[in-house]
Amino acid sequence: MAKHQSPVQPTAGPPFAAAVKADPARFLAKAFADPLSGAFSERFAIHAGRAGEPVSGPEAARAHLERLASPGGSCAFYVHLPFCRGRCLFCGFAGRSPDGGAGAAYCEAAASEIEFMAGAVGQRGPVRAVYFGGGTPSSMAPADLARLLSAVRSCLPLANDCEITLEGAVHDFTPDAASAFLDAGFNRFSIGIQRPSTPPCGGAWAA
Ligand code: SF4
Repeated sequence: MAKHQSPVQPTAGPPFAAAVKADPARFLAKAFADPLSGAFSERFAIHAGRAGEPVSGPEAARAHLERLASPGGSCAFYVHLPFCRGRCLFCGFAGRSPDGGAGAAYCEAAASEIEFMAGAVGQRGPVRAVYFGGGTPSSMAPADLARLLSAVRSCLPLANDCEITLEGAVHDFTPDAASAFLDAGFNRFSIGIQRPSTPPCGGAWAA
């Protein structure tokens, strides 16, 4: 384990806002420290549920199907793809590389689940937005994403003008990959950028 990687500690006890109030210095980066190894003395999770009771698989599936089967108006559909090419130092999300068939197997399983639950969707719809998020879905093979999106499009009542988003990293959107994503049916890309430029190696940021 590299020295900047310490186990993630759930923030048990007081809620996050109270924890910040009790010890604000714990949540601020140390000035003048190496940002990769010394900015914080520990890693901690702030996301809801990290210190809570997990929901059982069958219970979650039952609640999901009941919600889908209930009558309702327009809705949105989110597909989670927990795959990334690298691992950001601050990230506490579950994730892994899509290589070695892992991404393809996940997309196939997710497509099968969508096809299974399509019959339970009942009167819901139309679906006005579909979002493939993660993770870094753009790091996955376009053919695998196309297979999954095909299941979404054939099984769910998408609106004619449905917004279909692929979340990703800018370096994944090569001309070939971007064309393949568009051909698959995505009509919106959501790209996260931390800085619009990179400083020279060992250099400083320009003002
Ligand atoms: S890209 Fe996002 S999900 Fe992937 S490791 Fe970085 S912060 Fe975590």
